[in-house]
Amino acid sequence: MASLKGKRVAVAGITFESNSFAPGLTNLDAFERYLFAEGPTVLTAGFGKDEIGGAISVADELGIELVPVFASDGGCGPTVSDKTYEFLKERLFSKLSEVLGSVDGVYLRLHGAMTAESYEDVEGDLIESLRKIVGPDFPIAVSCDFHGHFTEKMAKSTALIAGYQTCPHLDFFETGARAMRLMAAELSGTKKPTLSYRKTKLLASAEGHDTSFGPLRAVMDRLHEIEKLPGVLDATIFCTQPWLDVTELGWSTLVVTEDNPELGQKLADELALMLWDRREAVLFRKEKVENIVAEINASEPSAKPFIIADGADSTSAGCLGDSNYLLKYLLQNPIKGTVYMTVTDPALAKKCFAAGVGGEVTSDIGGSLSPVFFSPVEVTGEVVTLCDGVYQSKYPSKMFNSGPTAVFRVGEISIVVTSKPAFMLDYQLYLRVGLDFTSAKAVQVKSAGGYRGYYEPHAFKCIDMASPGSADSRLPKLPFTKTRRPLWPFDLDIEDPWY
Ligand SMILES: [Zn+2]
Repeated sequence: MASLKGKRVAVAGITFESNSFAPGLTNLDAFERYLFAEGPTVLTAGFGKDEIGGAISVADELGIELVPVFASDGGCGPTVSDKTYEFLKERLFSKLSEVLGSVDGVYLRLHGAMTAESYEDVEGDLIESLRKIVGPDFPIAVSCDFHGHFTEKMAKSTALIAGYQTCPHLDFFETGARAMRLMAAELSGTKKPTLSYRKTKLLASAEGHDTSFGPLRAVMDRLHEIEKLPGVLDATIFCTQPWLDVTELGWSTLVVTEDNPELGQKLADELALMLWDRREAVLFRKEKVENIVAEINASEPSAKPFIIADGADSTSAGCLGDSNYLLKYLLQNPIKGTVYMTVTDPALAKKCFAAGVGGEVTSDIGGSLSPVFFSPVEVTGEVVTLCDGVYQSKYPSKMFNSGPTAVFRVGEISIVVTSKPAFMLDYQLYLRVGLDFTSAKAVQVKSAGGYRGYYEPHAFKCIDMASPGSADSRLPKLPFTKTRRPLWPFDLDIEDPWY
């Protein structure tokens, strides 16, 4: 591609993944805790490994000057309050308005599955609002998570949309680079990038989204072939965050062509049909806790731990991390050996700090934040470690802050008690509190599939546990009210798979 020297592109974004079933609302403190950046920090906050890092690499290659404006990230959690979203939006647009007159395009780093109380489709609202300001021909490029909730409003507002192509997500950098290449294609002014898409009546729990093995692998292989076809600029599959109670829920396929909507539609439909044909295979079946514990207790000694994934309380799917489902079972039916687990419980963390290291505490634990799913259980244990809960996650590459955090030992079970929900996609939290998780008999990880990239190499075996919670993989068990129907797997007899 020709040099685009002299072109300037503003960089901004708000990222958050909502879970409609997690109790309460997410407020501004969540965004302030993760990322709230203006100016140059926008470009460096992800240590060069995030989407913005990828956008920088393409911009540098093509001579595009990036103008950092505003970036905020709240991680994930319950629906965002209107007040918080409207504040963030106002902040983004007021900062953007200072540079809009001197840039040739805007790159927005978004998630795709952010909802606020009165906004089912925050990303659609942001892109549409920007489109109204800049007019129809101004390039807006967007990057989204694989779990983006793609909507008609987004499609009407820009053609330049690139989503992650891996799950567990490994291509943050590459996705930002793809978004910037779409921007460059539009800035170069030759053939207009055109978006074609297909929205399907298909949904599946996140454990069925793995792109590295299993049913979706062949779809991604075909997607990568499609990307290389003449006239095709980019392709994305959105296996949407399933724990969203919104109207347009369902998986989507997107193909961006060089002004060839016929080709784009044909290819988007081909990918959508491949997904639809795999609808039975992506339904994930989990193991009952009693079978898991029996298998672990019957196993030979191993240098590697069993990983017990409690995906229904996945803190990276917006859950609050206060499930004590496994703990309650183990108090009655112990695993023979050391067990590590995490529970969000700010009241207990406070008691541990008051008791100090070596102190004994008797307290309720768990179930304090999501009483609709869990109830507290009383335990007595010893405070082993206290820390500030700040740790650098490697996956994703960012700083996290789980608030005052204690290691609280009940018999053979070491419980990492955090004040705020803590991401568990990698094991940095366990390392931060001094637990060498590789030496345990079993380690609980609150993640719906995404943990495998980091934990599987260290595991004797990873087992996904059937359990309740706001990210229950048995989707029909959750109180969806807004989603249009029919939709798989709520409705199993669907004739026309397209919306
Ligand atoms: Zn995701």
